[in-house]
Amino acid sequence: MLDELGDWRKTHYTKDITPELVDREIILGGWVRNYRNLGGLKFISLQDKYGERQITLKRGVVSDDVFDNTKFGYQYCIMVRGIVKAFNEAPGGIEIIPSEIKLLNKTPDKLPIDMTGETVSELDLRLNHRALDLRSLKNQAIVEIRGELLRAIRKFLFKRDFTEITTPKIIGSATEGGTELFPIIYFEKEAFLTQSAQLYKEQLSGVYEKVFEISDCFRAEKSRTKRHLCEIFTLDVEMAFVTMKDVLELLEELVYNAIKDIRENKMGALKYLEMENKTVVPEVSFPRYKYEEIIELINNKNGFNLEFGEDIPTEAYRRLGDELSGYYYITHWPMSIKPFYIMASKNPKYSESFDLQKGMLELTSGGTRVHNKEQLMKALEEKGLNPLSFKSHLTAYDYGMPPHAGLGLGIDRWVSIICGLDDIREAVMYPRTPDRLTP
Ligand code: ATP
Ligand code: MN
Repeated sequence: MLDELGDWRKTHYTKDITPELVDREIILGGWVRNYRNLGGLKFISLQDKYGERQITLKRGVVSDDVFDNTKFGYQYCIMVRGIVKAFNEAPGGIEIIPSEIKLLNKTPDKLPIDMTGETVSELDLRLNHRALDLRSLKNQAIVEIRGELLRAIRKFLFKRDFTEITTPKIIGSATEGGTELFPIIYFEKEAFLTQSAQLYKEQLSGVYEKVFEISDCFRAEKSRTKRHLCEIFTLDVEMAFVTMKDVLELLEELVYNAIKDIRENKMGALKYLEMENKTVVPEVSFPRYKYEEIIELINNKNGFNLEFGEDIPTEAYRRLGDELSGYYYITHWPMSIKPFYIMASKNPKYSESFDLQKGMLELTSGGTRVHNKEQLMKALEEKGLNPLSFKSHLTAYDYGMPPHAGLGLGIDRWVSIICGLDDIREAVMYPRTPDRLTP
């Protein structure tokens, strides 16, 4: 029943079938996105990783063999050998007239989710069948943009002399105090999955000066929101011989260039997601507000009663997002709610820290770090942490640690923003949440 691949090889992807190829023979491979039988006429919409093309079978034009044997269901895996023809009414102005079709694999009569694009199945159901769901044109657009974003970030940072680092994800002790850590069994000992590359990237800024890492980290937060995952992909950046001011400038340039690259190289995907007028290259520099100004704004305009030292609650962020819809910084957070490695301001009530916001969403946190060992040990104690459990990290500060500053940016959140996704789980191929460990 099924055909063998044999020596057939794809000659092109759907995106490569351009008018220059008219009258040439090509081989495409992919999945049946749509199949219509109109009697003497059959249409297959064949999709591959880049898009779709119409295969047209007309009785009398194609061989009877090919015509009669073509009875396909959604998402059947097929290969088509045929001639490219110009046809104005076909999508993209091109159709393929097949001389031979191979059926390589079938699907059940009824697929668990809609793959025709006519209706959108519920997200949880889609995630249950993710390998199928990811073939949808919407997901193809998201994944293309995610890939371009990562490429653009690397391009930008390499051009500025950054070294890409890779740090361990299995760690022996808590990075920032121990909550939100996933414990694991490491032979006979307890260990943890890392929640950020923070301490390692700081150490490595004392070696390679300008470093970045793009990788996973793990947050054992039980928060079931549309902004939180338990496994996240983050960009970590750390720079030596600079302060927060330089990081603010670098980050806005990074955002500017990444969005510029996405618009230049992935406009088709942006348009598919209807984001071409929303994900626009932002003006730099970004507006900068001090934490105190933001608190004041929230309290005055929205009737909140936030006090200095409070974290900003989600509802307040939501109101803030109505007011400030673009990218903007919130700087100089109270030292009392910042981690131990953040440098206090001249007035130690404040800290040399910032968040980058896009509307209501926090995209990045960063700041100037403490580089003096005594100061760092004091900061640990003030946060109720035991310097002894940071012994090996602290050793790095014995060997000429330079002043340094950096940031951590949530890639999945940024993809959600750029693609206009309502739920962060859509930005990730296989999301991990408190309720989801498979697939
Ligand atoms: P939030 O307050 O929104 O939970 P956070 O301040 O705890 O975030 P950071 O430790 O500052 O997060 O992490 C750096 C960035 O990583 C955040 O600005 C955000 O973009 C992203 N991030 C953090 N936690 C999560 C999560 N659970 N899911 C998705 N992205 C996250
Ligand atoms: Mn943060």
